[in-house]
Amino acid sequence: MTARPVLAYPDPRLREEAQPVTEFGEPATALARDLIDTLRADGPAIGLAATQIGTPLRMLLVDMSGTGDAPEIYVNPEVLAEAQPGIAEERCLSLPGLVVRGFRAARLKVRFQDCQGDTHQRVLEGMQAVCFQHELDHFEGKLLVDRLWLPRRLWYQRKHRAPAAASLA
Ligand code: ZN
Repeated sequence: MTARPVLAYPDPRLREEAQPVTEFGEPATALARDLIDTLRADGPAIGLAATQIGTPLRMLLVDMSGTGDAPEIYVNPEVLAEAQPGIAEERCLSLPGLVVRGFRAARLKVRFQDCQGDTHQRVLEGMQAVCFQHELDHFEGKLLVDRLWLPRRLWYQRKHRAPAAASLA
């Protein structure tokens, strides 16, 4: 149970592809607690991916309270169906100061496991669905900065001193 530092762009670990969680029970529960404690310490935020605290595993936290008081942990999550595309505004703890508007589905049917390895399905709507998609992007190493149009992306990269090569990636 530890709040860990949230990796900040352009930390290369944010670009790592996350691997499936295979150890359930205590190891998964410990990682879930770290995610919740970190969001409590570094929020307000409504979501956090394990990749952001330096563990490249497919576990994410959604907390619509923004304070860590209503945590939902999704292990090895996947989208089964999506609907209601619309424009959503997003922020990310790893990219402070950046607000990005873009297309996201406002309704998702998802499948995931819990920390014990049991499988569940549920429907997510609104910002909860948007947050889920945002955290899934972290598993693929995709960040909000990638969704900016080129001039603004270059400006943000320069401001954060990303290596020159990264601006072409
Ligand atoms: Zn994020």
